[in-house]
Amino acid sequence: MKKRILVIILTAVLAAAAAVLGAYVGRRSDNSEENPSPEISVTPEATAEIVLNTETEKPAEEDKKIIVLDPGHGMTSDEMSDEEKANQGWTHTDKGWGEWRHWKTGSRTENCEGYGCSGRAPENGSCWYPIANGDRDGEGDINLRNVMYAKQYLEEMGYEVRLTRDNNSNPSMTKRLESCYPDGGTEPDADAFVCIHSNAGGGSGSAYIEMSGVYDQYGISESYADDGNRLGQCINSAIVKNTSLVEYSGGTIELPELILFCKSPITIAYLEIGFFDNAGDMAILDSEAEAIGRSIAEGIDAYFNG
Ligand SMILES: [Zn+2]
Repeated sequence: MKKRILVIILTAVLAAAAAVLGAYVGRRSDNSEENPSPEISVTPEATAEIVLNTETEKPAEEDKKIIVLDPGHGMTSDEMSDEEKANQGWTHTDKGWGEWRHWKTGSRTENCEGYGCSGRAPENGSCWYPIANGDRDGEGDINLRNVMYAKQYLEEMGYEVRLTRDNNSNPSMTKRLESCYPDGGTEPDADAFVCIHSNAGGGSGSAYIEMSGVYDQYGISESYADDGNRLGQCINSAIVKNTSLVEYSGGTIELPELILFCKSPITIAYLEIGFFDNAGDMAILDSEAEAIGRSIAEGIDAYFNG
């Protein structure tokens, strides 16, 4: 479709305004000799152009899709006071600080507390997730940088964006998922939850974590895992296409038991963008952060509109 561009040149308007203002100022000077007018300078040559591209108008507020961007990790647990851990949604039990991996089967608000759930956990894991398992040096800042660029591009595309954190805080997964809900609401209103991470431990490139098997939280659709995998694939494909990061491991990582997969009430994707402990990938993460952010936004848009 041909773009309709509306260009309004304001030169004439400004010139007219200057003339009127000039006349007014002149009259004031004439009539108030003892109170000289303030100096008002108007340059009638000043021009302004307003370009309205009517084809790419943003959707009305109520039609906007809501994307939750979740920059993984944050400050390490030893930097957090007990009060801060509690404020960030972590709980304290006889196992220490951490959180429960699951809701009770069929719930999306009631923590499993070790029973009545799917029990899904990575090898050697359990229903309990200790806070220190999430400690990473430096990854939190990389994730946040990528997310801030993605937010900017998504908003330009007309999406509403919520962040699970916008500073160095370290919310629990359960706390992060509260961003799926409107303030004080009990029905999720967000359309997708996108976790942004960077990988470590030997490797290079970008991938999404693939969901498989059964998820049993309340309210998710039959296609929950398929939708999330397609969203993850859309984002990862855009990253590999637009940046110097290669595709890692065929583009997918097997870790389907993640807490966020087991607890999210909406479509979710989980990206591992580059390896931050690989110098080559780290150089790309530093130099191409904006392109990574743009790719995240493009991938999300391709999922909804592609
Ligand atoms: Zn459990």
